Amino acid sequence: MAHSRAMDAATSRSEGAPPGAEPGPRASLRNVGICAHIDAGKTTLTERVLHLTGRERHVGRVDEGTSVMDWMSEERERGITITAAATRVQWRGCEINLVDTPGHVDFTVEVERCMRVLDGAIVVVDATKGVEPQTETVWRQVEARELPAIAFANKCERPGADVLACAESLRERLGVRPLVVSYPIGGGDTEEPLDGVVDLVARTAWRVGAGGVQRERDLPEAIADEVDVLRAELVDALSELDETMFAIVCDGRTPTPEEIERSLAVLVRAREVVPLFCGAALLGHGVPRLLDGVATLLPSPAEAEPPKLFDAETGAIAHEALPEPLALAFKVHSKLRRGQRSDLTFVRLYAGKVEKGSRLWNGRTGVTEEIQSVLRIHASDVEHIGEAYGGDVVALGGLRTTGTGDTLTLEGGRLRLEPPRVPNPVLGVVVEPVRDEDRLALRDALEQLAREDPSLRTAEDPGTGQWVLEGMGELHLEIALARVGDEFGVTPRVGPPRVAFRESIRAAATGAGEVDRSYGDAWGNAVVEVRVEPLDDGAADVDVEIGPGARADGGGLDAPSARAVAAALRVEATSGPLEGHPLSGARIVVEVARTTVSRGLEAAWVQAAVAALRDALRSAATASSVVLLEPRMAFVVESPVDVASGVIGDLNSRHATMEEILSTGTDGRRIVGTAPLRTLIGYSTDLRSLSKGRATFNMRPAEHAPLAGEDLRQDFPVGR
Ligand code: GDP
Ligand code: MG
Repeated sequence: MAHSRAMDAATSRSEGAPPGAEPGPRASLRNVGICAHIDAGKTTLTERVLHLTGRERHVGRVDEGTSVMDWMSEERERGITITAAATRVQWRGCEINLVDTPGHVDFTVEVERCMRVLDGAIVVVDATKGVEPQTETVWRQVEARELPAIAFANKCERPGADVLACAESLRERLGVRPLVVSYPIGGGDTEEPLDGVVDLVARTAWRVGAGGVQRERDLPEAIADEVDVLRAELVDALSELDETMFAIVCDGRTPTPEEIERSLAVLVRAREVVPLFCGAALLGHGVPRLLDGVATLLPSPAEAEPPKLFDAETGAIAHEALPEPLALAFKVHSKLRRGQRSDLTFVRLYAGKVEKGSRLWNGRTGVTEEIQSVLRIHASDVEHIGEAYGGDVVALGGLRTTGTGDTLTLEGGRLRLEPPRVPNPVLGVVVEPVRDEDRLALRDALEQLAREDPSLRTAEDPGTGQWVLEGMGELHLEIALARVGDEFGVTPRVGPPRVAFRESIRAAATGAGEVDRSYGDAWGNAVVEVRVEPLDDGAADVDVEIGPGARADGGGLDAPSARAVAAALRVEATSGPLEGHPLSGARIVVEVARTTVSRGLEAAWVQAAVAALRDALRSAATASSVVLLEPRMAFVVESPVDVASGVIGDLNSRHATMEEILSTGTDGRRIVGTAPLRTLIGYSTDLRSLSKGRATFNMRPAEHAPLAGEDLRQDFPVGR
């Protein structure tokens, strides 16, 4: 899709702040993510939105591989969304940054990353199925970020579609208070095909007329009574939660549509209710009402709480005004164009302004990045804009070292935004080049993939010349490796999948390292002491902190040396003292850094720090406070009751911990629990034969937990 120059100019004019005004987050901006279970229709919905808002003349179809949003070739072939794509549309005076997120369990990290930068969410459910397991997982992330949300019951034309049942499942499975705000005309199990939706707030019908135009009409008689009952229920629910509405109802007045909308807007923002819209994205029903909901019910970035700031040196929360500019890189996408690889860095701007030529400081890498372009992303297309302001989500071109989770701010800025949490990968494969001359290309490819996606981890085994690539599941790895072939032109030899172990510590340990030697012409002398301690919240991260006793003002590390030491300690922490698995959930504090020479030498600091960490980990291992962790998966098995005991017995033999066994429907059981991933490899095949194909299951990575006994490792050998 081409943009004319005139259009670009017009866009940049309208996007700039009015002269003399303080540029800040605008009330007309919305940053919204769409999230749901795979196949609920997120991508189809996004395509429909693009069409409605005039972005795309044709509606892309997922099934035909013409979707605009699913633009990576892997996505088109598989018909699923792998990379969340962002696009920008206009609706009712609002500019909406819409982020299409992946639904597959292997890509929840991708969802989490996008969630960090959003101000609201649209939860899409398949109206014939209600809330599915992945919706629950994604919802947990919506909750964790305290995002206001609205919901959309999709596929309402299909037999079995039931909006009220969807509302019930939202209440039951997500624990929210759903409010039905729109209702289908026909469709589902009614006699009539889906013909439109009723807006319960305005009490009007919207049907798709000739030429796809939506027009308003009187309510169809058949559902008028039902609609009035539902509308009364809506007003009732609002008056229970909102004083203004309560007063209106007490006066015996019927609230106006504006009053209902205002009440909804207050309660959605307070996260007290989740309005449920409905329709069929594939046919275009109900989508305009949903967009109205985004515009009127979801908040703008101007209403959002300011983000938490951290002091990069001490890790402490900083209660300071936001520095300007301030941006979080939440996604990096590299593109190959005419043999040149260039990064597109997606950022959420929190404060200040960025424009072409802006210099932004990346505190983690210590590099000043120069912005070559500020872009709006429209799926695979880009549109140059002059500048962007706090509150917006844009892509930046020209950044060289910035990875996902990095803060970009003023030169030398100390403050950082909270980086997105990255879970431990659960599955890995050994990768090596088929041809020896591809060795470097393979390394570059793997490193690039890991920079784009922090839930992919790669490490080289210097002994064997092989690499290990770890990720969140088989599909995740498969797609990463396919990209290595497609985009980097290297076809690696890949070993069978194996479980990704971690090592963690249970008690603090200290260690010291010292060097005193020449480095070429210079003499390096350094004494470093480190403490390693468990992170209290069971996090997967490894934090590195430079304590007060090791900083430059105490005669210790200056800023560049501190960065080099922190980077070297992170690398060293990828090899634990027990079996060489990466360390997880640990804080490494450099407590002392001393030197006898006038200017400390970076290489000496690094060498002494690494030796100190090895020493600390060795003594932790000697004190038996290092534990081996393995990934556990949270599973939900839905089984007919007659085979349930067999299913449970089998899960027991896999060392599962059963948390809940519920009865569902007339003769079903839902079994909820966790089990080591190792014991679940190949489970879908086993479950199929155990239940003659009648049971289904779903799993997601839960946590890394201590290994359940040596003998277990023999029963279920790693890498089966
Ligand atoms: P995603 O995985 O959530 O992105 O879902 P997709 O947008 O890829 O859609 C999954 C499948 O559902 C595709 O085959 C779509 O054509 C289909 N689909 C999406 N919306 C509707 C709808 O409103 N009605 C029907 N019948 N099918 C739909
Ligand atoms: Mg999709």
